[in-house]
Formats: sequence, C-alpha cells, structure tokens
Amino acid sequence: MNDKLSAELYERAKKHLPGGVNSPVRSFRSVGCTPRFIAKAKGDRITDVDGNEMIDYVCSWGPGILGSADIRVLEAVKTACDDGLTYGAPTKREIEMAELLAELVPSIEISRLVSSGTEAVMSAIRVARGYTKRDKIIKFQGCYHGHSDGLLVKAGSAALTTSVLDSAGVPADYSKHTLVADYNNEESVEKLFKEYAGEIAAVIVEPVAANMGVVLPKDGFLQFLRDITTKNGALLIFDEVITGFRLALGGAQEYFGITPDMTTLGKIIGGGMPVGAYGGREDIMRCVSPDGPVYQAGTLSGNPIATAAGLATLNILKEDRDIYKRLEKKTEVLDEAIKSASGGRVHTNRVGSLMSVFFTKEAVTNFESATSSDTEEYAKYFKYLLERDIYVAPSQFEAMFVSNAHSDEDLNKTCDVIKSYFG
Ligand SMILES: *Cc1c(COP(=O)(O)O)cnc(C)c1O
Repeated sequence: MNDKLSAELYERAKKHLPGGVNSPVRSFRSVGCTPRFIAKAKGDRITDVDGNEMIDYVCSWGPGILGSADIRVLEAVKTACDDGLTYGAPTKREIEMAELLAELVPSIEISRLVSSGTEAVMSAIRVARGYTKRDKIIKFQGCYHGHSDGLLVKAGSAALTTSVLDSAGVPADYSKHTLVADYNNEESVEKLFKEYAGEIAAVIVEPVAANMGVVLPKDGFLQFLRDITTKNGALLIFDEVITGFRLALGGAQEYFGITPDMTTLGKIIGGGMPVGAYGGREDIMRCVSPDGPVYQAGTLSGNPIATAAGLATLNILKEDRDIYKRLEKKTEVLDEAIKSASGGRVHTNRVGSLMSVFFTKEAVTNFESATSSDTEEYAKYFKYLLERDIYVAPSQFEAMFVSNAHSDEDLNKTCDVIKSYFG
C-alpha cells in the first residue's frame, strides 16, 4: 500500500484546515490512520493521489447511488453550465424538480430547495414550529439531522427527559426545546408527550437510522410515531436525507407505507451537487415565505447546475424500473458473505442498499446497542479492507452504501477480502 502523497497532503492540509478536512469524518480519526486524498472517481472505483484504485462503498456518504461520474448526469451538468452558473432568479428546472418531488414522494405536495441537508432540516423545523405555534421538538438519540444549533443535542445521562448539548458553542438555552427519546422505544416518546402536553411541535426521525450505523425501525414503530403525533396535534417529520430515493423512489415513506407530514431530503437529490429540500402537505408549506410568515431564503437555492444534476439523477432512477431490486440484491451478496464468514462475531443490519457491520454480538436496535460495538475491532477491519483497495466508511457508526455501478466482479472481490479478514 502506498499513501505517500496522501500523507504529504494531509500534513499540508492540517496547517490551514481544521483537522486537515472540511468535514470531520473525512479525517479518518476514529480509525487512526491517514485519510486518502482523492484524485478522481468513476463508476464504483475511487482513485487517490497515489494512484490506488479502490472499490468505493462510501459513495460520498450517500449521493452516489448511480456510482461516480455517470455520463448522463455529467452531460446534464455540462449543458447547464453553458448557460451560466447562477442567476438568483427562478428557472424552469426548479418547477420540474418540484413537480417530480410531488409525484414521487408521498408526503410532498409543495417543496422548497436549499443547498444542504442541514439547511433542509433546520428550515423544516422552523416551519413545523410556525405551523403548530409550539416550540418543542422530539428527536432520537443517535439520529443525525445536520449541524444546526438546536439539533446538536443528546440525551442527558440522568433521565430521558433531560437533554444536553453535543457541541461547544451552542447556547444552553437551545437544548431546552429539543427533547431526546430513545430510537425504537415507544415508551420514551409517550413519556415526553405526557410531560410536555400541548407543547410539542414535531417529532423528527430518520425512518431508518443511518448515522449510528444502520438501525432499522422495529415493526410498528413508525406507525406508532404517526399515531401519537396525529393524536397530539404535532407534526411528524421524516428526515430522509439518506433514505430518500435510496430505499425506493419515494424513500422510506414509500418503503414502509407510512406518510409523514413533512419530509427533508438531501444527498441523492443533488446527484453529487450541494442540494437539499424540504416539503410536505400544502397547508403546512403555505406557511413558508413569501406565501406565509415563516422566513427562509437562499442565494444559491435551486441553483441551475445543481438542479440539473439532481433532476438527471432522479429521472434515471425513475426510468430504471428494477434498480431498487438490483441494489438490494447486490447488498445482500455482501451481507451473506459477512454473515457466513464472521461466524456470529459481528451483527449486520441491512435494508435496501444500506448496510452496517457492527462489531458486537448484540442485535443493534438503538444508540445504546450500536455503541456496544468494539470500535478498535472496526478500525482493524477498516484498515485490512483499505490495504486491499476496499474503501468503506472510516467509522463504525456510518453506513456502507452500495450503488448501481457496483459490478458483480467487484462485489465478489469485496466478498473475498471480507472472507479472508474473518477467515
Ligand atoms: C447527511 C445528513 C444530514 C445533513 O446533510 P448535510 O448535507 O451534510 O448538511 C441530515 N440528516 C441526515 C439523516 C443525514 O444523513
């Protein structure tokens, strides 16, 4: 393995970027090695500056459902570029995108484009508060919803009804409006609705949690959230930044048949460009400025190039009728290889083309069981794979993403490496 040039760039990067990176997980800190600096990517392969060509299961943390540099998406971007990069005025493609979202995503009648998942979630919560005229929200321990102040909150150690900040620089007052419940634990949600009756604006949840590793909702959990929010006049927000267009064209809400009031999107919707979106029922979304009193704006929102990349990607997914079946099959191949080779030493969670290998013997159903994983063992596994040109997430608590570009040959190669690790 040669990482000489990456190591040199990392030293140089650390001088002028925090941790040498523009987003923390890229630094490879949790696995204790030097991050690879990437030169290019094509299909299911990603190539670093030292010329190592690796099979990519990070897929830019989710956007790359078609693999990298899909020629159809590139063409759409190049064509759009010729007409100028940004105007700050409405364009036809933005209507096409809103129409497509209304067609594909069950909960969405009206939507607005933003430039990241963080922005989508932050804005959706503001709308939920404006619509219900209530302040408090419930989120789940281990679910990630971007880095806005009010969401960097975790459960306090004393009781489930106290919450504490998860980052420096956030005023303590912010945590008091964010209540933290336990994923897959209905009682923890009931308790909060009882204690804060009439005060809860919304419950926000990743319908499949994918930021503590992949954790599936247990049977009935999403229906329970649907019922308890309706009963209490609160909104249900599905954060589908990862699951949107990944589990199905209509996301987890289509996959599980549960329709939330609002949905946030990101990652795949931008086709590799910075895009997020939030949307929902018409009566809720009419609260958004300039139709209503909830202010939200963006200089580059609905950017013509980003919208072109997103539209091209969504239209490819829409026209490829059995793509989700193929994605699931590919992922199953990896899952089966791990299960048979590991002899019960790990636990895998999988849905569609999302998967996690937890280095624990416990079934992983929430934050507590996810964090029972042996992260040092994961770091060993990560390095073993990396040295053999298999690029998976440099953290136990991130998903493994499978794309349409993963070839049978590369999947088999990956299975062989995994088998030799556990062998
Ligand atoms: C990635 C992610 C976000 C944040 O999106 P950014 O584009 O990184 O700001 C929010 N919610 C979920 C579920 C995510 O996976």
